[in-house]
Amino acid sequence: MDRYPDNIHSDQAMLSAFLADRDAACPVCRYNLRAVQGDRCPECGTHLQLQVGQAVVRYGAYLWLFALLAAPALGFIMGLPWTIRMVLDALDPNMTVNIPLYLWIIRGAGLVALPLFIITWLFRLQLVRMRNDIQWVLVIAPALYHLALLVWFTVEAINRP
Ligand SMILES: [Zn+2]
Repeated sequence: MDRYPDNIHSDQAMLSAFLADRDAACPVCRYNLRAVQGDRCPECGTHLQLQVGQAVVRYGAYLWLFALLAAPALGFIMGLPWTIRMVLDALDPNMTVNIPLYLWIIRGAGLVALPLFIITWLFRLQLVRMRNDIQWVLVIAPALYHLALLVWFTVEAINRP
C-alpha cells in the first residue's frame, strides 16, 4: 500500500513538495523558491530540477585561484601611484631612467589580474559549484605566473654581478 498519491512520484511534483516548506535559493538569481509551484523560477525563469548534489562544496581550488589572483591585483592597487610615476617617466623623452623589464612584467600582470580577481569574487558562487577538475585547470595560469616569477628572481639573484 503506497502512502503517497500517484502524482507525488513525478519529478515536478517532487520538486514542488521539496520547495513547499524549505528556503531554497534559485541557483541563478538567488530568489527564495519557498512554496514555488511548477519547475521555473518566478523571478528569472530558470528551469529548475530536483537532483542529488555533493553535501560539501570543496573550496580548495577556488581559494588557490582567489589567492593567486588577489596577490598581484592588490599589489597593483597598492603600487598604483608608483606605477603612474613609472609610466610618466618612461613617456618623458627627457628622462633617461632605465626601468627594468621585470617591473613592467609585474605591473602589467597586476593590471591583468585586477579584473580577473574582481570576476573571481563576483562569480564565487558559480565557481565553487563548477566541477572540481575544471576549477583546478583555472588555477594553472596564475600558478604558472607566480612560478615563473620565482624561477626568474632565483636566476637573477644567483647571477647578480
Ligand atoms: Zn531565478
